[in-house]
Parts: sequence; structure tokens; C-alpha cells
Amino acid sequence: MYHTLASVTLNRNTHLKSFATSIALSCLVSGALTAQTARLTAAPARPEPGAIVRLTLSTPVSHADSVVSVRGALAGEPLHFLHSTAGAWHAIGGVPVDAEGSLVANAVIQRASGKTEIARVRFALPKVPPPVSQPLAVDSSFTKPLDAATTARIDRENARAREIGRLAHDRPPMWSASFLKPRTSVITSEFGSGRLFNGALTTRHLGVDFRGAVGEPVRAANRGVVALVDSFFLAGNVIYLDHGGGVVTAYFHLSKTLVAIGDTVKRGQEIGLVGNTGRVTGPHLHWAARYGAITVNPLDLVALGGRWYVSSSSRPSEPSRTSAAR
Ligand SMILES: [Zn+2]
Repeated sequence: MYHTLASVTLNRNTHLKSFATSIALSCLVSGALTAQTARLTAAPARPEPGAIVRLTLSTPVSHADSVVSVRGALAGEPLHFLHSTAGAWHAIGGVPVDAEGSLVANAVIQRASGKTEIARVRFALPKVPPPVSQPLAVDSSFTKPLDAATTARIDRENARAREIGRLAHDRPPMWSASFLKPRTSVITSEFGSGRLFNGALTTRHLGVDFRGAVGEPVRAANRGVVALVDSFFLAGNVIYLDHGGGVVTAYFHLSKTLVAIGDTVKRGQEIGLVGNTGRVTGPHLHWAARYGAITVNPLDLVALGGRWYVSSSSRPSEPSRTSAAR
């Protein structure tokens, strides 16, 4: 419909009829929706907990009053809208694993004249099924109640990981190619499956496990800066990569790390070796990801493909839910 409106400006006589039709259709779709409002859409329409959501914003093109900036937010994290084609902007956001009911994303469009528009999209979240139990036999030192010092250490390490996620918002996206899986081996545990430690259901599995023997290679999922190399109680030897645009990937239980904090790594670069450090039943790679402080499914990054921010009209269509600006 916006395309029709632009055509009217160019050739008023021949397009007057279609202009009138498009206005009538707009009114049918929604009383509040006019051809002058910005639209925000989200895909998938019903994201799973921990999903990456793709957001597309369409702003009416006005040469007299251009868009100077677009800001946005979802689940308490900022959205970074990239301008792709005239009037089209793209961003990704994260759905918290414990989110229930529905979530609202918004975009605030600032025009040169000082005028501000707000577009919103609400999406319903599916009912979260109870975690599927996956019995694991682990060393009893992991199932015994942790002492206060260890609990404090785990809390501190979790806080550092969240902080790395937040800092990733300060860096513009460093990648333009698609995210890679860090190993080509079989996935032995998916994101979100429940964990049963010696009979007691503990937490959901907030990463993806890849099969691997000690010493086998672990590769950077994409270009980024090494934000952390350390030894954590649960995760063992870890590497965190800051890819910018709010995106962080993490690699756990390594036997060896091959990079240092501050290094810029290439997509596919060998950064460490598979190991069995931390809380593990055997050697494997646990791969995790964050959007800001939100833990997300790293395979959703891979699913974004390459130029995820290209115009939505050139992407295969899929269900999405829209809402009018207010
Ligand atoms: Zn794991």
C-alpha cells in the first residue's frame, strides 16, 4: 500500500483510482491504520522460549521529513534497527526462556522535523511444556548441596556472563555472513531439554551440546571480539565472543583455549579444543548464546542465514503478525 501511495505522487492521474482503493482497504483492515503509519512485524509469530525474533519495520518514505533514527526495545533489551532499503528496517531480539503470555516489541521513529512515531507488535508465546527429563549420571560432587563460597562463585560468574551480553549492545554488528555451528559433529542435547541430575530435575539446558573427543577443534561461529577467557565452576574453561549488535556466543568445557581477551577472531577460526572441564559427564562442546542479557538458542542465529537484514520482500515468506502504530 505504501508503494501505491508513492506512485500517486509521481503520476496522480493514472493512479488515483488505485490510491482510493488502497485507502479503502486500509480502513477495512483496521480503522486506525492509514497509509501514513509505520508498521512493525515479527517472525516467527509464535516464538519458542529462547528464540531469536526477526523484526521488520516499514516507515512511509517522506522526502520532506526523513527518518533520522530508529530505536526500539523487546523484553527489556534494546533493538538495533539496520536500514536495508528505502523505508525498511530490520532488527533481531530475544525471547527470555521464562517469558509467558505475550511480549511487545516497539520501535520509536525520529524524523528530521522532530516528529516521533511509535510502532508496536505484540506476539503470543506458546504454552511452555514441562521439560523432558534426561537422566544424567554425574559425579556426586555436583549433586551435593553447594557450599556458600561455591554458590557465590557461580552467581559471580553468571553475572559476568550477563554483563558481557549487555556490553555487546555497545558494539555495532561485526558480522555480515551467516553464523556457523562451532562443530560439524552430531548434536547430543538440544536447547531447552530438561536435566535430571541423579533423579532430581534441575534446570533447562540453555545451550546446544555437540559430540567431540578431547582435543578436537572448536570454531568461532562468526566474526567477533574475544570478551572472556576464564575457568568457571560449571562451564569449565570458557570463551565468550562479542559479535556486536547485542549478540554473544559462548563455548564451554574446553580442554584448551587458543585465543586471548581482546583478539578479533574470524568466522570459522579455531579458538579452542573440546574438553571435559566443569560440570560434565564426558567430553563435549556446550555452545551457548545471548542477545543482551537474554539467553537464546544459538541454532536460531544459524537459522538467520546471511544477510538477514535484507528487504523482507526478497526473503521467503513466513507467518508473521502485525500491528498498527499508535
Ligand atoms: Zn550442554
